[in-house]
Amino acid sequence: MKTLKRFVLVGAPASGKGTQAHFLAEKFGLETLSTGALLRHEIETDSELGKQAASYMGKAMLVPDEIVNGIVRNWMATHTEKGWLLDGYPRTLAQAEALEADLAALGMPLDVVVWLDVTHELIEARMLRRRECSSCGYITRDGENTCPSCGGIMKTRGDDNPEAFARRRKDYERLTEPVARYFLDKGQAVHISVTEEGEPEDVFLRMKHALEDFAKNN
Ligand code: AMP
Repeated sequence: MKTLKRFVLVGAPASGKGTQAHFLAEKFGLETLSTGALLRHEIETDSELGKQAASYMGKAMLVPDEIVNGIVRNWMATHTEKGWLLDGYPRTLAQAEALEADLAALGMPLDVVVWLDVTHELIEARMLRRRECSSCGYITRDGENTCPSCGGIMKTRGDDNPEAFARRRKDYERLTEPVARYFLDKGQAVHISVTEEGEPEDVFLRMKHALEDFAKNN
C-alpha cells in the first residue's frame, strides 16, 4: 500500500479544482501551493514577480514556464517534510519535466496526479450561472440577482468573460490535458470524469475512493 504524500491536481478553469484542492488538503493533511493564487498575491503587492506575471495574466495567458518553474522550485525546497498538493501546476509538458527533474534533485517522489476531467458543456453551463456580489464578493452558482449574504447586486465575474474564458480553455486543452495524459500513461494518475452536475462533496467521495484504490494497487 502506497502512502500518498505528494499530489498534483490537474483540471480545467472552472472545473471546481480549488474546492477539490481544499478537500484533498484536509483529508490528507497537505499544504497547498496554488500557483494562480500566489501569482495574484504577487500582483496585489506589486512585487517584481507580480509585475512580470501581470502582463500575461491580464491577457488570460499562461505565465512563462521559467517564471512558474522557479516559484515552485523555491517553494518545494522549503516544503520537504510535510505532504503537499500542487494546484494549477504543472500546466505544460515543459513544466511537468521541470517538476520531475526538481523532485529527483530533492530526492522526493511525486506520489499521485489527480485529473479532474469535467466536460466542456458542464463548465460552460456553470460559467453562465456563476455570479459574484458587487458589494461583498460572495460567489453563487445559481444565477441569483440578489446576494444571499448581504442583499447586494450579483454580477458576472470579470474573469468569466467569454473571450478570456475561451482562451484559458484552449490553453488547457492544448497544453494541460497532455500533462494529465502523460502521467496517466505512466500509471501515476487517477482520472475523475465528471459529466453531470452534482455536489462537490460527491465528486470528492469518488476521488477519495479512486485514491484509495490507487494506493492499494501501487
Ligand atoms: P488559476 O487560479 O489556477 O486559474 O490561475 C490563474 C492564472 O495564473 C492563469 O490563467 C495563468 O495566467 C496563471 N498561472 C497559474 N498557474 C500557472 C502555471 N502553472 N503556468 C502558467 N501560468 C499559470
